[in-house]
Amino acid sequence: MAILRFDALKETLRRAPVKIKEKERRSDLFGRNVFNQKAMRQHLTKDSFEGLKNAIDKGEKIDRSLAESISAGMKEWAISKGATHYTHWFQPLTGSTAEKHDAFFETVDDGSAMEKFSGSQLVQQEPDASSLPNGGIRNTFEARGYTAWDPSSPAFVWGPTLCIPTIFVSYTGEALDYKTPLLRSVSALDKAATDVAKYFDKKVNKVITTLGWEQEYFLVDSALASTRPDLMMSGRTLLGHSPAKGQQLDDHYFGSIPSRVLNYMRDLERECMLLGIPVKTRHNEVAPNQFELAPIFEEVNLAVDHNSLLMHVMDKIAERHHFKVLFHEKPFQGVNGSGKHNNWSLATDTGSNLLSPGKTPMKNMQFLTFFINTIKAFYENEELIRATIASASNDHRLGANEAPPAVMSVFIGSQLTKVLDELEKVTNGKLSPEEKTELKLNVVGKIPEILLDNTDRNRTSPFAFTGNKFELRAVGSTANCADPMTVLNAIVAKQLIEFKKEVDGLISKDKKMKKDDAIFNVLREYIKSSNKIRFEGDGYGDAWEKEAEKRGLSNYRTTPEALKPKISKKAIDLFGELNIMNETEIKARYEIEIEDYSKHIQIEGRVLGDIARNHIIPTAIKYQNVLIKNVKGLKEIYGTNFKDQAKQQMNIIEAISNHIEKINEEVEQMIEERKKANVMEDPTEKAFAYCNKVKPYFDDIRYHCDKLELLVDNEIWPLTKYRELLFTK
Ligand code: ADP
Ligand code: MG
Repeated sequence: MAILRFDALKETLRRAPVKIKEKERRSDLFGRNVFNQKAMRQHLTKDSFEGLKNAIDKGEKIDRSLAESISAGMKEWAISKGATHYTHWFQPLTGSTAEKHDAFFETVDDGSAMEKFSGSQLVQQEPDASSLPNGGIRNTFEARGYTAWDPSSPAFVWGPTLCIPTIFVSYTGEALDYKTPLLRSVSALDKAATDVAKYFDKKVNKVITTLGWEQEYFLVDSALASTRPDLMMSGRTLLGHSPAKGQQLDDHYFGSIPSRVLNYMRDLERECMLLGIPVKTRHNEVAPNQFELAPIFEEVNLAVDHNSLLMHVMDKIAERHHFKVLFHEKPFQGVNGSGKHNNWSLATDTGSNLLSPGKTPMKNMQFLTFFINTIKAFYENEELIRATIASASNDHRLGANEAPPAVMSVFIGSQLTKVLDELEKVTNGKLSPEEKTELKLNVVGKIPEILLDNTDRNRTSPFAFTGNKFELRAVGSTANCADPMTVLNAIVAKQLIEFKKEVDGLISKDKKMKKDDAIFNVLREYIKSSNKIRFEGDGYGDAWEKEAEKRGLSNYRTTPEALKPKISKKAIDLFGELNIMNETEIKARYEIEIEDYSKHIQIEGRVLGDIARNHIIPTAIKYQNVLIKNVKGLKEIYGTNFKDQAKQQMNIIEAISNHIEKINEEVEQMIEERKKANVMEDPTEKAFAYCNKVKPYFDDIRYHCDKLELLVDNEIWPLTKYRELLFTK
């Protein structure tokens, strides 16, 4: 192993940037491998083009004969792009993407062959998905699941394969994937937001959710990564002493991108262009070897598909450049972790961003309505938001004294805080004409059209308003954005329905209030009742946690605790009312996630035990033997006075023995706790056991291993060290 580390280092140091070709303009490359409108026009008949477009824009059904003609056109297009196979591409609850490739190829009776792709093959498939997680759904209901084409996310060719985005559901209709509930939440929010948007503009007929994600990640040379069983098996380093230099100099952030990395990024971006992923920004992040990539925002369903696809593409392109991509939220202790900021907003079919202030008082009232309703929804459902971003790996960020914290709060900046303070003073009941004029001129009218440039920069809040969108920053870098987006859509949809009911109530016959008065009245109450969630300070640290507790905000530090609100009556009612998920689907998801948590900790425990016992201890003993031989030699030379010469060596010999003993003891005890946890039937009980009984050993075992790293001869240390992983470029 020790030899492997040095071989890997040599290999890494010899590497040059991989050559890439970047001759064509990006605008020419963009969407070349996507079955977009341009490709549809070229390869479909006029009728099927119209039919497909209606399915995409208005959600109209695609009948058999239409599917038949679309599939024929799609096949011809895909073959012209070099595809030989097709697959239904979906996002099961494993957190990655699934595909099963079938060839277009089919034999004919006369012994020859042809390319075939029928309408039914396009529309529906039955993947043998019995090993994909289903949280018991397919055991209790129907053994089979099927995938169904989602025409709202365009098919694309990736390598030799035509990929058709699909939903994945059980035969009884329960969602077995991330996309299905997301699509349902999108339509719930569309309906609720359109109804409210009509207060301000009668012409609005549709509201879409927009998402712009920002993906953070680390890059490590693949040779170095392969010397670390922990990185390979669990995605993070389970041990390793901090380097002398970390990120304290802040010299990496926005610094120049190392050339090997730059070529990787350019190559990746080229591929993204072909696949129609509109990536735009690339830069270094805070930690050494940490980077970020962000696209132009898109409709949420497409944006989610693009993020899942991107993560896959990143892995593949990295192979070519001899990198391993680390998506884990906390690959290195003591070094900044990675997140995936989800920038979220609402856009109307009339081209207006509902979270963007504007030139007219009307536009600003619209803005305030959606702005305040979102804050209120977030406050009412902060526990559910926390639940939706919980995972074993994200626990290392949330609640681990790193921003964002485990307490959910909203940051809006001082300007908007002032506006809300003013609105809180609005008269109860009908407003006088003077008050209305005053409000319109000096409060609503004064919201700067573009807050974008002067919004206070706050980087630690889990949910920040950044000028024309909310930014959910607590999402983990490994996460599929669909789940947090589904929840955000759902809670805002419910809130807007509630809002409409209240406003209409005030406008109604007996209350006789004017529309504007009614809106101001309801908003005033919302501001008052949700001000506890607003926090403008640095969203982490002890002081804030104490304050948050006083305010009654939740603070779940670990996943097993944090997940519970997912199956609360409140959550079941919320998703049920909006037809996003039924109780079975909700409980199945919870079960998958809670089991996933235990599995992650189990794997980490096994890997850590293995490394500690089979790599670290033998190395420590080897070095101890060298020291013992040295002491024996000194004794031979100096006789009884040898201790004067051998004192330090003997101290180290003893220290090594102590650490070895501790490691052995703790690994032994950890295994015992694992055994106990493993026989637990109840998945929640098991997760708590893994969290509270097994995981605590990790830090202690690591402590002793890291101490040994400082004692043992560098020449024989088997694991590539932090400084090598983080600073070799
Ligand atoms: P940062 O947070 O790193 O400072 P920006 O504030 O510039 O970056 O925004 C980052 C992300 O916000 C981008 O992915 C961008 O596409 C997205 N974004 C901008 N406007 C919207 C919007 N209306 N809806 C959703 N996302 C948006
Ligand atoms: Mg951001």
